[in-house]
Amino acid sequence: MYKWHIDTFHSLHQKRARLAHAILLQAPEGTGVFEFSLEWAQALLCESVQEEAPACGQCLACGWFAAGNHPDFRLVQPDSYVQEAESAEDDPPLTARERDKKSDQIRIDQVRELQPFLNVGTHRAGRRVVLLHPADSMNPATQNALLKNLEEPALGTVFILATTHAHRLLPTVRSRCQVVGLSHPAPLEALQWLREQGVQQAEAMLAMAGGAPLLAAVLADRADFLNQLAEQLANRRMDALAVAAMCQRAAPVEVVTALYRWCYDMLSSRISGRVRYHADRAAAVDALAAQCSPRLIAGYLRRLARARALAEHPLNPRLFMEDLLFGYVAMLDGRRLSGDYP
Ligand SMILES: [Zn+2]
Repeated sequence: MYKWHIDTFHSLHQKRARLAHAILLQAPEGTGVFEFSLEWAQALLCESVQEEAPACGQCLACGWFAAGNHPDFRLVQPDSYVQEAESAEDDPPLTARERDKKSDQIRIDQVRELQPFLNVGTHRAGRRVVLLHPADSMNPATQNALLKNLEEPALGTVFILATTHAHRLLPTVRSRCQVVGLSHPAPLEALQWLREQGVQQAEAMLAMAGGAPLLAAVLADRADFLNQLAEQLANRRMDALAVAAMCQRAAPVEVVTALYRWCYDMLSSRISGRVRYHADRAAAVDALAAQCSPRLIAGYLRRLARARALAEHPLNPRLFMEDLLFGYVAMLDGRRLSGDYP
C-alpha cells in the first residue's frame, strides 16, 4: 500500500462494520486510486481480519482474491483495461485497429450482467464487493442502469465507485454514495517515493505531474520527448511543421496535455508570477510569457481544452497536431486565429 494512503485506509478499516453500501472513492489523478480500491476490496473480503493490518494475504479468501476468482467479488472496468492487463505473453500483439475497437467505457451490458451475481446469496462470509473503475467511464445510460442497484442494494453488498473525475458522474449517482476522498501525498513524501523507485529528475517530474507521484513516474519514462517538446515550445521562432513531425512519436493526447501544462504556466506566470509544472524552466516560461497577451494565452488554453476531447481519436493525427501548433505560433506572434474564441 502506498504510504500516503495508510491513514485513510485505517480510518475506513475501523468503520468497516457500518459501511455504506455504495462508496464513491475519489482521488487526484496519478495517486493510485485503483491500487487503493483493490487493496480495500480485498480487506473487506478477507476472512482473517486484523485491527491494524490490511488483508492478511494468507486466508482462503485472500488467495482467491489474488488469483482473481473470489466468488463474491466483481471488478468492472472497460475492455481496453482488461486487455492490457490480461494479454498473455505468447498472444500476438494487438494491431492499432484491434486496440481502437476495445471499448474505453464500462458498457451498459457489463452493468446488467451484474444482476445474476447480485441476486444469489453470497458464497462466503456474507459480504460482496463490486468495484467499478474508473467509474466515470460509464456514460449516463450505464450510470442509470447502475442506479437501480444502488437504490435497492442486496444485503451485504458494497459498491466501490473509484474515480479521479467524480464530477462526470450523475448527481443522482453521487447522491446515493458515501464520498471518501483520497488526498495528494505531501511533496516530500512523494519525492521520497519517486527516488525509491529510481526515477530520474524526480523533482521536475513531480512538478510536471502536478504533485501526483504515479503520474510523475509515467512522465519520467517519457522525459526525453517531453524535454525536447518543452525546448521547442520555449523557442520564440518555433517551426510548427517540424515540431508536428516530431510529435508523431507521441500520442496526440500526450502532446495536447503537455501543451496545456506549458500554456497554463505561461498564463500563471503572467498573472501570478508562478510557474507550476515547469519549475525547472521557470526563466524560459517567464521570458516567453512576458511577450504574450494573457488574453491570447487564455483563448489558446480554451482551444486546447476542446482539443483534448478529440485527441483520443483524431481523424488525421498529423493535421490535428499541425493545426494546434500553428495556433500556438500565432499566439506567440500576437495573432488571433478564428476558432480561438467560442
Ligand atoms: Zn485474508
